[in-house]
Amino acid sequence: MNSKAYYGRFGGQFVAESLMNTLEELDEVFENAIKDPEFIKQCQYYLKQYVGRETPLYYAKRLSETYGTKIYLKREDLNHTGAHKINNVIGQILLAKRMGKKKVIAETGAGQHGVATATGAALFELECTVFMGEEDMRRQELNVMRMKMLGANVVCVRSGSNTLKDATNEAIRTWAKSAEDTFYVIGSAVGPYPYPKIVKEFQSVISREAKQQFMETEHRLPDVVMACVGGGSNSIGMFAEFIEEKGVELIGVEAAGKGIETGEHAAAMALGEIGTLHGMCSYLLQDENGNIKLAHSISAGLDYPGVGPEHAYLKDIKRAEYVSVTDQEAMDALMELCRLEGIIPAIESAHAIAYAMKKAKTMTMNQAMIVCLSGRGDKDVHTIADYLAQKEYMN
Ligand SMILES: *Cc1c(COP(=O)(O)O)cnc(C)c1O
Repeated sequence: MNSKAYYGRFGGQFVAESLMNTLEELDEVFENAIKDPEFIKQCQYYLKQYVGRETPLYYAKRLSETYGTKIYLKREDLNHTGAHKINNVIGQILLAKRMGKKKVIAETGAGQHGVATATGAALFELECTVFMGEEDMRRQELNVMRMKMLGANVVCVRSGSNTLKDATNEAIRTWAKSAEDTFYVIGSAVGPYPYPKIVKEFQSVISREAKQQFMETEHRLPDVVMACVGGGSNSIGMFAEFIEEKGVELIGVEAAGKGIETGEHAAAMALGEIGTLHGMCSYLLQDENGNIKLAHSISAGLDYPGVGPEHAYLKDIKRAEYVSVTDQEAMDALMELCRLEGIIPAIESAHAIAYAMKKAKTMTMNQAMIVCLSGRGDKDVHTIADYLAQKEYMN
């Protein structure tokens, strides 16, 4: 295996032999595409005219004054379909077209990546199949409906825990049998190489814009850059342009669920061990026999038992720090952002906001941080209502 497929000891291509050529072809097509001005122009056209970029870098004045440092929010929630996922989908779908594929498949947990993929497939006239665990289909009825309206075929996966991990296994199995005419659109900075690299490239638009926007107002670099971490795509996109800027502190926020100590969490970086899953080697939640453990988070988008290989590497070399925030802390932060700024964030994004509030208290008004607001909270209103009702009951 080629060493370029690795981030330190993480990454790689742990897939069936039959997919090795497909991955190599994909890598070649991708490398050529991102050097092709025509491809870049096409990407930029759709990001501007369809997705609605660039997204604002909003100075959250009331939040800043309440917590004691300047907090800027990168508003990925304002993208078409309501989150950052569409940035990557547009890029990968354009790659699929370039490769002459007629069909796309995708896995989805919360349904956000499924919706983004179904959207892109409708736009570019591709047949779309989305794999989703039975349990997730039940929890995320609204997104199932959205995917169907957009013309996607949603396949219900009944195996293991009936969630994202199992849907991903099924997507990879299907892809191995159909790669000839089918492109696999992966939704996070995970999977076998070159996917982590591809997803990072297409999500880097977040930090390219944010860095420039920040420089224009503050005429310097931010002190801290922060994002929530599920598989790690909005965070690697938010970090990308700052990784080489050694003075900028990078912080990834994982889901601590009901608390790290309860075992019911999704903190793969804090408590995971090295293993292989979904074609990659990374930090994963595993039991003593190496079986993948079920992740838990109130936010479906952070409910993944692993993390992208570049994050595992950034943690090892201590370039980025990874922390975790509980369901309760995220929900409190979510409500706080609603009341202070009039923004209803996705529960995933609220994890980053929660840690931003803690971190802000250790900073001054002469310092500044950028937080990636990865998505909007409309999809979560039911979860939020249930949570608040339960809390009321418990008090
Ligand atoms: C999917 C999702 C996430 C988590 O995925 P990453 O790949 O870690 O970014 C975070 N926020 C929102 C709004 C999502 O939809």
